[in-house]
Amino acid sequence: MAEDALAGLKPEGLWRHFADIARLPRCSKNEERIREHLVMFARERGLECHVDGAGNVVIRKPAHPLHRGRPGVVVQGHLDMVCEKNQGTPHDFAKDPIALALDGEWLHARGTTLGADNGIAVAAALALLSDDSIEHPPLEALFTVDEESGLIGATRLDPGMIRGRTLLNLDSEEEGIFYVGCAGGQNTEGWLPVQREHAQGGVAVTIAIKGLRGGHSGSEIHEGRGNAVALGVRFLWRAAAKAGLRLYDLSGGGLHNAIPREFFAKTIVPRDRVSLLTQMAGELERDFKLELDDLEPALSLSVAPNGEKPEKVISEGSMRRLLDALYAIPHGVTAMSRRMPGLVETSTNFAAVHLEGEELHLLTSQRSTHPSSRDDLADRIQAIVRSAGGRTLSSGIYPSWPPDPDSSLVRICREVYRRRTDKEPQVTAIHAGLECGVIGEKLPGIEMISFGPDIRGAHTPEERVNVASTERFFAFLLEVLRSL
Ligand SMILES: [Zn+2]
Repeated sequence: MAEDALAGLKPEGLWRHFADIARLPRCSKNEERIREHLVMFARERGLECHVDGAGNVVIRKPAHPLHRGRPGVVVQGHLDMVCEKNQGTPHDFAKDPIALALDGEWLHARGTTLGADNGIAVAAALALLSDDSIEHPPLEALFTVDEESGLIGATRLDPGMIRGRTLLNLDSEEEGIFYVGCAGGQNTEGWLPVQREHAQGGVAVTIAIKGLRGGHSGSEIHEGRGNAVALGVRFLWRAAAKAGLRLYDLSGGGLHNAIPREFFAKTIVPRDRVSLLTQMAGELERDFKLELDDLEPALSLSVAPNGEKPEKVISEGSMRRLLDALYAIPHGVTAMSRRMPGLVETSTNFAAVHLEGEELHLLTSQRSTHPSSRDDLADRIQAIVRSAGGRTLSSGIYPSWPPDPDSSLVRICREVYRRRTDKEPQVTAIHAGLECGVIGEKLPGIEMISFGPDIRGAHTPEERVNVASTERFFAFLLEVLRSL
């Protein structure tokens, strides 16, 4: 059935390999079957093949006779795919083939992710390796594992396996856009001590911020959407003294890479100040809406009695120290790139706060194309937490890929693109991690670029790849290989 959907599509070799791998299970961390397929593929053709300790595969092919003696080129993509399906789709990713379907110019899967991210790279590399008429320098096809759960395969790549110092990453999703850099990042967590004491009389109320849009802290941080945690802390910091608040619970946000959408604070308020607190909430809600303009139309800041009778609340001194520290934690873009207009250079996401027993846990996430700027922001957050008597931990560190839009590789790709299309490609970088950042750190001096065909809806069952765009992408790849 899969072959039927792809019958007659060009380039024929690429789509044949795409159909082959669509039959092989390859959710992240479960790449054994497709790895076996690659090893067999290399063996059948007498190509040199290596697998490293992480399960990454490299297959080498000598240069085409016309290109002998040229420096080697690495073509790279990841083997794993995000396995998502629509509710009610009876698909078992561990054994069922992806059901391919063609809808006009777009290839998609029935009810599941398609795996064009990054099956297109795998299929393109296999098409290159299996066609001896294609002109190319010495070629290494690098297939990494476990990209989608955090660049794990690339992080554990054995760099001794790679000889080439020019790398074409085929894991981009917009034709005509070349990625030449990415941010590095890290998470900074903090734990602030809190002292509790017996609660005095008053009304227990929940302060809630809801209705925010959230979003991805890499790709959407520059929009300036509201951060529920930052806004909630700002309200508490203002209202605490005036309304005589006594906090007993606090929570907001979640994942390090998500802009928080909701925030809840539970407090005891003297009975005669509940209306003052409600009035302050109304005023600040108006301010927030004015500041955020049309970005957050559904934002709400509410105050409501919750009927609880907590035994303990945070002591007043402890609460003040806590709120001072939380209010000082930065959020958002701190620098834009000067070399690449529109690119966020450095940012931090105040991702979560949770009161857990005698400590408040906070999570933040920094990104930057400059490792030093990332460290600077992380250090500042650590300084804030420590000055309030807390402790910190850094985790999830990944390297950046500093953009060089004028490298010889980028110049060649630009020229080829212009020649083929009469158009100027967009050369840009991304404010998120890519495998190139990790690989570049392991192979100093390597020149890299990332490009691919038009893919939409990646990581969702709406994922689809444009067939005509894929044909152009492959022809472009061949011409780049001829030109290197
Ligand atoms: Zn990908």
